[in-house]
Order: sequence, then structure tokens, then C-alpha cells
Amino acid sequence: MTSTETPSPESRQPVARPGVLDIAPYVGGESKVAGVNRVIRLASNEGALGPSPKAIEAYKALSGEIHRYPDGGSAALRAALAGRFGLEAERIVCSGGSDELITLLTRAYAGPGDEVLYSQHGFLMYPIAAMGVGATPVTAPETNLTTNVDALLAAVTERTKLVFVANPNNPTGTYLSAAEMARLHAGLPSHVVLVIDAAYAEYVGQHDYEPGIELVRRSTNTVMTRTFSKIYALGGMRVGWAYCPDNIADVLNRLRNPFNVNAAGQAAAVAALEDVEFAEASRAHNDKWLPWTSEGLTRLGLKLTPSVGNFVLAQFPETTGHSADAAWDYLKSRGMLTRKMGSYGLPNALRITIGTGDEMKAVVDALSQFLGKS
Ligand SMILES: *Cc1c(COP(=O)(O)O)cnc(C)c1O
Repeated sequence: MTSTETPSPESRQPVARPGVLDIAPYVGGESKVAGVNRVIRLASNEGALGPSPKAIEAYKALSGEIHRYPDGGSAALRAALAGRFGLEAERIVCSGGSDELITLLTRAYAGPGDEVLYSQHGFLMYPIAAMGVGATPVTAPETNLTTNVDALLAAVTERTKLVFVANPNNPTGTYLSAAEMARLHAGLPSHVVLVIDAAYAEYVGQHDYEPGIELVRRSTNTVMTRTFSKIYALGGMRVGWAYCPDNIADVLNRLRNPFNVNAAGQAAAVAALEDVEFAEASRAHNDKWLPWTSEGLTRLGLKLTPSVGNFVLAQFPETTGHSADAAWDYLKSRGMLTRKMGSYGLPNALRITIGTGDEMKAVVDALSQFLGKS
């Protein structure tokens, strides 16, 4: 120190690494409304039917064992996933929610001066993870609220280390076909990691869709991430998983915490996976209520993107009184929680999760009144 001044107490505070204080902390969907007992929660894309009763049982059965460390390698869960999807267990890495995988992959492959690329209205965890390691988040424009492969490829520079594509994307609900994803992969330098975030894969019935397994199989730079938080409705348990090439599985296993998936989460996830019938029912429910809700809201004059997830993105008119913000307030005052989209660059839109049939009827009715249609 050349200064002769005594440092003020403030200047001696610990200072976070560059980038950390630039992060806008992730704000989850609200879950409570003051004075309302029965809140309709449509803000976080939690599976409409809740978790499988078998998953709840498995969770409860563990209550006498919570003093024990979990299996640090999540072996039973990896074996169950391998069996269910026809994968190699040693190339699966489990995590405390798939958010953890986004963070780990970013920590592993990017640092200060590097770029992390994603699509304009992509999932907010990507820039958060990038800034957390001092890397620069870079976005590529979308077309019709859909990931544009050419725009992504055009945005790749020498500094690009990772490309994140949520497929289908949250919050837009749109998806890339297997052919488009393969085209993206083919256009990327082989040292750039392509992360396919398939959090909603189980809901997608489109024949040209593929969650990413095929691409992972034939490359050393593609990872597919999945979660138990959405169709399996185990968000509170925090369980995600990745299917990786050997080289990336090795890296993630070195970097992750040794006991990153808690015991109850592992048990509940295995049980949920085994209850194929319940997962099918959850998907059939979505197949019915996703188009029902989309059509209902379109009839009210709202603009909907064609979603393949368990949520819709509804765009509101800018006219005073009928804005997305006003709609959000109106719904909340009636105990219905949806998600504002300003932080995704979509201030005129709300994202609405597909809930139960009664919940969907309630939200369409309320918006009909809000818009003066009934
Ligand atoms: C919900 C979501 C996740 C995170 O899920 P976890 O609960 O952390 O497993 C990841 N990606 C997308 C696109 C999501 O919508």
C-alpha cells in the first residue's frame, strides 16, 4: 500500500469477485396471497397433478433414516434413469435440481473473459451462472419467440465456451426440432459445450422433437439436462440429472459436492420414475388442458405462442387497464398467481402454468372478466 491514509472500515469489507454484484438475483414465482386461503399457484410450472403418491410414500419411508448420509453417487437413481431411458448409468450425473448443473457446467467451462451464449428470451439461470464466474452472458435474437439457430451461430466468437438452449424453452414454450438442434451442433466449434436444457421434455409429443440423447451419444461436447421439478412435480426435493459424454461426466463428478442430492430426493425420484402410469396421466392431463387453455385465452383476444410445455405465454394488449401487469394484479387479487415476464424482456406477457381443470377454468373466467368479455 502506498497510501498513508488508514483504510476506512468499509474499504476493508470482503469484495466479491467481478461480476457477482452485477447479478440480478433470481426471483421465483410467488406462492402466497395475503388473506386468501386457497391460492391457485400457476407461477412455477409445477406439475398439475402433484407428485406420484408412490414418491410421497418413498419420501415418508425415509423419515427414520435422516441421520444417514445419502449415497453420494446417486447409484439407485442413475440405474433407474438408465433403465427407463436406455442410457449408460456412468454417463448420468445427478444434481440438486438441474439449476445446479447449469452452475456446475458454467464453472467448469467458463471464466473471466469468456462468453456464455443463449437465446434472447432464454432461461434466466444462464446469465446468472455466467456472471457468477465472471463470464459475459451474450444473447442471440429470436424469431417469433423461437430460438434462431443461425442467430446463435452468428453470435459465436473465439471467447464462446458454452451455448445453453432450453428445449422447449421457458418462458416462450417454443421448441427446436431434432434437425435444427443437430444443425446448431454441427455449426459449433467442437470445443464449445452445447447444453440442451430439456426440463419439459416429458411433455413434448411432437414427432420432430428429440430431447438431446441422440446428440449426446455422438459427440464429446453436448450435455442434456433434465429435472424432476416439472412433470414429476418434485420441485421441493431438488433433483435434476444430466446425460453427458464421458469427458463431461468426469468433469462434473469432480466439481459437484460429494453429497449433492439428498436422500429423500433420491428415493422420491426413483419412485416417481417407476410410477410410469402416473407420469402418463400427468402428460395426458397436459395434452388436454394445454390446448384448452390456449384456445380459451386466444378467444379472449390474447396472443399465445404455440407452447409444447406445461405453461402458456400470453401476450396482453398495451391498452391502459388491459396490460399484463394489470392482469397479474387482477388475478392475484382473486388468489391466482401467474408469472410476470419483464425480467425475460417480455413486459406485455404473463406465463401461466397448466394447473388442474378447475384452476384453468378459473383463470380463463377471471381473464374474461378482466378483459370485459363476460
Ligand atoms: C424449471 C427449469 C429448470 C430448473 O429446474 P430445477 O428445479 O432446478 O431442476 C431448468 N431449466 C428450465 C428451462 C426450467 O424451466
